[in-house]
Amino acid sequence: MKPTFSLILHALQGLLLVVVSRAYTVISDDALTSIPRPGEDFDIKNGKLLSPILQPRVPGSQGSTNVLKHFVDFFHNDLPQWKVSLQNSTSKTPVTGNKEIPFVNLIAARDPPWAKAGEVGYLTLVAHYDSKRTPEGFIGATDSAAPCAMLMHTARSLDEALTKKWAVMHQAGIKQEDYDLGLEEHKGIQIILLDGEEAFDQWTKKDSIYGSKSLAADMEATFHPALSTYHNAISSIHLFVLLDLLGEGTPTPKIPSYFKLTHWAYQNMATLEDRLRAQSLLLSSPNHPSRRSTSNSGRIRTNSQQLKRAEPKWFWDLDKSNDRWLGGLIEDDHLPFMARGVDVLHLIPNPFPTVWHKATDDGEHLDMDTVGDWTILVTAFAAEWLDLDGYMDVQTTKKRAANDQQAGNMVSKTEL
Ligand SMILES: [Zn+2]
Repeated sequence: MKPTFSLILHALQGLLLVVVSRAYTVISDDALTSIPRPGEDFDIKNGKLLSPILQPRVPGSQGSTNVLKHFVDFFHNDLPQWKVSLQNSTSKTPVTGNKEIPFVNLIAARDPPWAKAGEVGYLTLVAHYDSKRTPEGFIGATDSAAPCAMLMHTARSLDEALTKKWAVMHQAGIKQEDYDLGLEEHKGIQIILLDGEEAFDQWTKKDSIYGSKSLAADMEATFHPALSTYHNAISSIHLFVLLDLLGEGTPTPKIPSYFKLTHWAYQNMATLEDRLRAQSLLLSSPNHPSRRSTSNSGRIRTNSQQLKRAEPKWFWDLDKSNDRWLGGLIEDDHLPFMARGVDVLHLIPNPFPTVWHKATDDGEHLDMDTVGDWTILVTAFAAEWLDLDGYMDVQTTKKRAANDQQAGNMVSKTEL
């Protein structure tokens, strides 16, 4: 068949859209500095975001219902402009006989206010909220209560900037034709909190990732109106960023680059990590001013007296000249999405945390500096993907200098 002119035009528009959709805007140092840390909302005993998740939450249990309600209430009360939906399924498991166990995934999304269904491409940030049945009372703080709380804080930290960006775009009179021609793009953000990741008995293809398998199939079958940019819900996902087993501080988490197709995103994460370290914005760094060692005399050494320790690197795997990609090795919630053609960035350390699937994977064993640092890093990446530079709540240089001075005063007090 010979292509018609309109077909060629259509193909060119499609090409343009692909080029535009890869847009990714680096944020300024000021914007990076302005990203709020979760602070006391991540307190493991009574912090607003994290502490309600730190309870056993096996699918179908009261704990699971409590935690799901916590998520729904959070979006309802704190982020009312996010559209929240629940996706339900049931399944038998190897250890629960004929009983159908319910699995409930939560999807929260924020779209540009004018965007039509099927026109929004998403950065999709994902973690699982269920906990493992055993050992008895298992909390799963890194697996994955903390990652869920990180994503809640990320959503909250970007909300205002999204509102500002879209208001400016609206005032500038961005026209629907610009989108139709692929000259502009509807970018949105999706947070997915999955149920049923853990095996009930032993991890097998059947006994694992119950929620993810059901959601991926459901999204594939959810069609958008004809002629939409994205023909179904699953094709609207530009990048599926899966957070798992994060929150242990020692040993330093090491994140490999698992997938060739998303190495570009891995590189952007690595660059942001470097920038945050260079600006002393990662509290888990051994060189952060708050982690000064004491000298033999018992006095706290000043920065100039203290030898700089080797700076850790979470994203160490930039050099992929050997072309060895470990993508298939770790089975996790991304698999049903990847099988349907979704690009995946998997943020899971290798090796796994030392507390993995042990009773000690609880709130007390989280390294809160590391948890906060992950939150900042993921938020910064999302801000860049969503082109939010210029819309973040940037402190003025003067105000920042005053804050720095205040922080300096506090440090010098500890030297007495
Ligand atoms: Zn697990």
